[in-house]
Amino acid sequence: MSMSSGSSTNYPYCNITFTYSHTGKDDQVQVIYALPQPSDFQNRFYTAGGGGYSLSSSATGGLQYGAASGATDAGYDAFDYSYDEVVLTANGSVNWEATYAFGYKALGELTVIGKALTKNFYSTQNLYTYFEGCSDGGREAMSQVQRWGEEYDGVVAGAPAFRYAQQQVNHVFSSAVEHTLDYYPPPCALAKIVNATIAACDPMDGRTDGVISRTDLCMLNFNLSSIIGESYYCAAEDSTSLGFGYSGGGGPPTKRQAGAQGSTTSSQPEQNGTVTADDVAVAQAIYAGLHNSEGERAYLSWQIGSELSDANTEWNNETNAWELSIPSTGGEFVTKFVQLVNETNLTNLDNVTYDTLVDWMDIAYFRYLDSLQTTVPDLTSFQQSGGKLLHYHGESDPSVPAASSVHYWQSVRSVMYGNITSSADSLTALKDWYQLYMVPGAAHCGANSLQPGPYPQNNMEIMIDWVEKGLQPTALNATVSSGEREGETQMLCQWPTRPLWEGDSTTFSCVDDGTSIETWTYDFPAFNVTIY
Ligand code: CA
Repeated sequence: MSMSSGSSTNYPYCNITFTYSHTGKDDQVQVIYALPQPSDFQNRFYTAGGGGYSLSSSATGGLQYGAASGATDAGYDAFDYSYDEVVLTANGSVNWEATYAFGYKALGELTVIGKALTKNFYSTQNLYTYFEGCSDGGREAMSQVQRWGEEYDGVVAGAPAFRYAQQQVNHVFSSAVEHTLDYYPPPCALAKIVNATIAACDPMDGRTDGVISRTDLCMLNFNLSSIIGESYYCAAEDSTSLGFGYSGGGGPPTKRQAGAQGSTTSSQPEQNGTVTADDVAVAQAIYAGLHNSEGERAYLSWQIGSELSDANTEWNNETNAWELSIPSTGGEFVTKFVQLVNETNLTNLDNVTYDTLVDWMDIAYFRYLDSLQTTVPDLTSFQQSGGKLLHYHGESDPSVPAASSVHYWQSVRSVMYGNITSSADSLTALKDWYQLYMVPGAAHCGANSLQPGPYPQNNMEIMIDWVEKGLQPTALNATVSSGEREGETQMLCQWPTRPLWEGDSTTFSCVDDGTSIETWTYDFPAFNVTIY
């Protein structure tokens, strides 16, 4: 064990680093803890989630809350490698130690050890414990609620990428639609479809403000076919992307990194045309979601009006045509996690049908059911030990579908309160400790450049008040960060109520709308098991 003192910009803290191993195993896990100076300590322990395939490598996230906090290398050198880089020990062999460590185990141990250390360090038995994360960090938050529930007092989970098998394979779905329809739309046509949908559906929520606060009303009342014939224009552009595997460790990329394997330079010609029936057919199929060849639903999709990011095609200078571009987020999952081949993307979709995608989901579901799937719906140990869960999701998230969060909330409700016959009673019982909020117009773990809507700014303060002062939220505080209404505060509606603006005013109601909730409610008969 080594101890040293360090300091961030504002908070002096003590940095404690050590390694531990599991009895009977020849392993080593490194953990780092940051402990605030005693005068700043507010009897809190805090862990932050990471991002795609990553745990947080920063141990100082809790200092702003007067909390001790930590980070773990999870036994697979997670400070230097993302999990997808180590998931295979060789072709055909899953690294199960790393998989369980990343899935939920390393974070749980980080918290158990960190709580003991913190209580000892400050000589206190009184400690509130928190977890906060978004995207895979949201999945990590849910993993802690599901697997280590009794350890946490308050958990904030944003847009969790938690229904792992379905979620990750679904990143190939948009490409599969284009491949199946044998049509590769110009990106500018898809952008036009999204922007025209936003313009048409914005007023349906009662206020014209550039934001679809009610994607359900858009789904019920808007026909994408009405966009056929509208014109679009996009100027030529060159862009360089560092690729999904880039992990530069913060800061601007160096020259060497920018030229490293995985980076791509793409160019797009000027695009000038009108939206065709083929363009709309692609968008319609994507928003409808994956079904197998029997017509049975396999997964839900992004809300209508969400950006169609996964559907982006690429320009081929030699054939002068748009062609397939498989997102590496999905392609890498299929190669490494399903096919167990150490490649970072699929090279093509030859012989791949919608049934193939369902098969891939099925394989990944059973293989990772007790490690990565992260949809255990029985949260009894968390609930009975007094835990509070704040779950939020950008309604126009183009990466993790907003309905994915709704489906989990519904699963928890039916599994834990299925014996309560009154719907109102189960709602009251649930919101006492688990609340879900849709963030109108928001994208993946942030505001949306296409819709200038609100975004939550102080979730942890709300959670701390809920845990430590018993102040149960009834709405979620959010602020508009761009556009004409920048600075406007909106108290977001708690699911399953939905916002309805009172004309072009600054007030809205949170209404019950059964027909709308139906559009958010799915089952997945393409699988023989219940998908929570
Ligand atoms: Ca609106």
